[in-house]
Amino acid sequence: MQLELETKDLVQKDKDHLWHAMYRYNEKASPTIATRGEGAWFFDTNGDKYMDGVSGLWCLNLGHGRKEIADAAYEQMVNLSYFPLTMSHVPAIELSAKISELLQGSYTTFFSNSGSEANETAFKIARQYHIQNGNPGKFKFISRYRAYHGSTLGAMSATAQANRRMKYDPAAPGFLHVPPPYSYRSPFGEDVPDSDRVAAELIDQVINWEGADSVAGVIMEPFISGGGVIIPSKEYLRRVAEICKKHDVLLIIDEVVSGFGRTGKMFGFMHSEGVQPDIVTMAKGLTSGYLPLGATAVSSKIYAKFKENGTHNHLRHISTYGGHPASCAVALKNIEIIENERIVDRVAELSESILSELYDLIALDKVGEVRGVGFLYGIELVEDKKSKAPASEELMGSIIAACKKKGLIIGRNGDTVPGYNNVLIIAPPLSSTEDDLRFVVETVKTVLSDLC
Ligand code: PMP
Repeated sequence: MQLELETKDLVQKDKDHLWHAMYRYNEKASPTIATRGEGAWFFDTNGDKYMDGVSGLWCLNLGHGRKEIADAAYEQMVNLSYFPLTMSHVPAIELSAKISELLQGSYTTFFSNSGSEANETAFKIARQYHIQNGNPGKFKFISRYRAYHGSTLGAMSATAQANRRMKYDPAAPGFLHVPPPYSYRSPFGEDVPDSDRVAAELIDQVINWEGADSVAGVIMEPFISGGGVIIPSKEYLRRVAEICKKHDVLLIIDEVVSGFGRTGKMFGFMHSEGVQPDIVTMAKGLTSGYLPLGATAVSSKIYAKFKENGTHNHLRHISTYGGHPASCAVALKNIEIIENERIVDRVAELSESILSELYDLIALDKVGEVRGVGFLYGIELVEDKKSKAPASEELMGSIIAACKKKGLIIGRNGDTVPGYNNVLIIAPPLSSTEDDLRFVVETVKTVLSDLC
């Protein structure tokens, strides 16, 4: 009774005062109010328990309740609560060196607070790099349709999902979009057999058409996550890297989702051997979501142009909380656990059997395609396999609701154009137990078998 009253009161305050992300106000619906987390699970004010099948917003890589991570934050806050990176502090130094080691190159990192800021920082660094490298006309960025790169103006401009921009355009100038390597709905038509290769070559053409001397960078995730889990061939990124190199265009890899083990490698780009990005942006799994932190790591080629002496050669960019000592301490502990517990190898090992179970769903009428890598899965639902018309809003909603009723949270996305939000998303914490993972797969299979 008491619990019910408290929940009712909280729901009312929530409705009156808390503006949720991606929110459509609904007087009748009540939010799920979490009170506690344990591993891959969380509990709400009603005492119900849910498995978080999307790791929050694909960030809770190590799950809830790692005391070592909380201790690292506590000790750091007690010792040095805040310090700006106009000067320096130990956790930021150690973390920047660790990131360079993990990227298997020589990288220098600028810290911020989020994935959006990490990408904004990358755009500014890239433009300034080209100016300081004697190519002041290189200012444009190329990204792919369906990509999501963040919510701030530059990151939103690189984002190419119509629905996320429609009331906020015009976007920042200088951002161009090309088709994604999306073989299931090939933008080049069904009869083009190698659509990933064509998608990569189109980047070459667009750079030529625009003029290579006007293009600063190409930004992409190794695997599009927020646009419906799109998994290109390994050759795609290799070819894009070659094209970028040929035109002196910087390859910016957005590892905000795919970094720190999500795909079964430490970083997603590592699936394409030989690719060494010029800039890598990170957030989410960098701290497993325990504290906010964004990072923009640049290769020594780029940093060299910021080391050269000259009055105007410094980076004119600052973030009050970027590289907060507690966030850096948390990231270091998070990475230490990922390494000590061999989390990345575990994801690679377990993902094969999860994927093969999920592939069985292709037998269902409304399952168009099942895609995945590591612990990142997308199930594209259609009205029927032949027309590939996207599954209805009602079906998508009822699947998500049915999973929730059984105690599993899953997500959905796609192009976020109405009607094309038809990909179910599953991305459990990387530390999920085998029982947790079995629960996810069985629940999804049961619900889809009933409804598809
Ligand atoms: N890049 C990608 C690929 C993302 O998925 C996101 C967030 N979902 C961002 C950037 C932006 O990160 P943030 O929400 O921390 O700003």
